Amino acid sequence: MYNYRWIWVNLRELIWRRDDYQCVLCGKSLPKLWEAEIDHIQAVALEGDYWNPTNLQTLCHKCHSTKTGEDRVKINNKIRRELIEANHSTLEVFLT
Ligand SMILES: [Zn+2]
Repeated sequence: MYNYRWIWVNLRELIWRRDDYQCVLCGKSLPKLWEAEIDHIQAVALEGDYWNPTNLQTLCHKCHSTKTGEDRVKINNKIRRELIEANHSTLEVFLT
């Protein structure tokens, strides 16, 4: 059994180093690891890969908040779409 928490701690430091200790969106310098927020470029809820470094980026708190807000809208839209599709199949069962 892997210790995922430990893997994540190491992975986030790796991403932070790769991104030159700065926010990839606004270029804000993040010299302390705890200031850096590691973001999933494609949200995990939208089928983004959790562990793939190519799906990870370093963001500052401000950019991460904005990005999270946008992701939330996308996720809500996806859920709504899926509910509509699910209702359609339910209706089809009743109509056939
Ligand atoms: Zn930023």
